[in-house]
Amino acid sequence: MSGSPMLSPILPPATLGMLGGGQLGRFFVAAAHELGYKVWVLDPDQHSPAGRIADRHLCAAYEDAAALDELAAGCAAVTTEFENVPAATLSRLAERIPVRPAAAAVSICQQRINEKSFLRDNGFPHGAFASIESAADIENANAGLFPGILKVARFGYDGKGQVVVEDRAAALAAFQKFKGEACVLEQKLTLDYEISIVLARDAEGRVAAFPPAENQHGNGILDVSIVPARSDACLVCDAEDIARRIAEKLAYIGVLAVEFFVSRGRLYVNEMAPRPHNSGHYTLDACVSSQYEQQVRALCGLPLGESRAHSVSVMVNLLGDLWFASEQYREPDWSTLAAIPNLKLHLYGKSTAKPGRKMGHFTVVGEHLDKALATALAAREAIGILGG
Ligand code: ADP
Ligand code: MG
Repeated sequence: MSGSPMLSPILPPATLGMLGGGQLGRFFVAAAHELGYKVWVLDPDQHSPAGRIADRHLCAAYEDAAALDELAAGCAAVTTEFENVPAATLSRLAERIPVRPAAAAVSICQQRINEKSFLRDNGFPHGAFASIESAADIENANAGLFPGILKVARFGYDGKGQVVVEDRAAALAAFQKFKGEACVLEQKLTLDYEISIVLARDAEGRVAAFPPAENQHGNGILDVSIVPARSDACLVCDAEDIARRIAEKLAYIGVLAVEFFVSRGRLYVNEMAPRPHNSGHYTLDACVSSQYEQQVRALCGLPLGESRAHSVSVMVNLLGDLWFASEQYREPDWSTLAAIPNLKLHLYGKSTAKPGRKMGHFTVVGEHLDKALATALAAREAIGILGG
């Protein structure tokens, strides 16, 4: 599935390719650099966070044949930080160099109908849903799906491309607003809380799972991750087992994130991300190997690193809204956060802040979760994040 099998590991100072230039790609570049690799990034945005620090930024569309040929000629292997890379791009590259994860796995995770069908067909627990490709599909949808959430099948993220629909009429109106694009209609579950499991899987099928994160969202965007999740130990074991089995079924090589809902004490898989995940940022500061180091290792055929956490941690996202907190657009006062010794600040180097845009994050590490959480929430308030 992943192009030609890799017989010997790709060792530094080889050059690796990264599709996508966002913050996840930027952390991959940093991790690869730490290990002595070079990285070329393909991203159409001239100012992409990863492109800025890459050894080379190919500023071109993901479908650009010349850029893909250049990437294949210059890189020993390629991975992605962005699930919406066209599967055809991955397949084209796989004819020449190892591509991890493979196109087949990415194309399941990048399309909600494929993703839900994969969960259903393989017996993984998931909420009730219907595939919506026409108005008739809404007419015929089970009444039990309402109130529900209509989500576009492709290109949704951070709660974008989804709307809560109380009844069939609202679903029809929303479907029209989405211009008849393919969607899934999901039953709206009552959530006790949400968790995620990020894991790495290598070409031999060995898996290293990170500790579970408990994720709190605001307006559909991740706000805070608390690690380890304050969850029942059995439930966490089950979640890890499910995540592992999903990775196996996908013949996955690389870093995979699985988001779960816990509803009335039961686990439901929400969605998968074929890449490192926002809820795994904490691994940078609290684990022996970060999710990005594991991505490099899995891509290169190196043994996976230890994924154990050496500290408890609480991660807080810094969204662009913060730049608009006073009357005038202004840079937040980072000295407030710099003054907290156990707080690790990460800013992504994005030139302009916009509401909802992920500009950075911080992680508070410590020995006691209650204390780390209190420090993180106080820091969140001190820097000016409202609500929550
Ligand atoms: P995204 O791709 O934007 O992360 P998700 O499907 O994960 O989209 O939805 C974002 C958030 O919206 C979830 O983390 C959860 O808080 C809420 N949500 C999504 N689907 C449901 C559902 N079926 N029932 C209840 N809450 C949901
Ligand atoms: Mg999600």
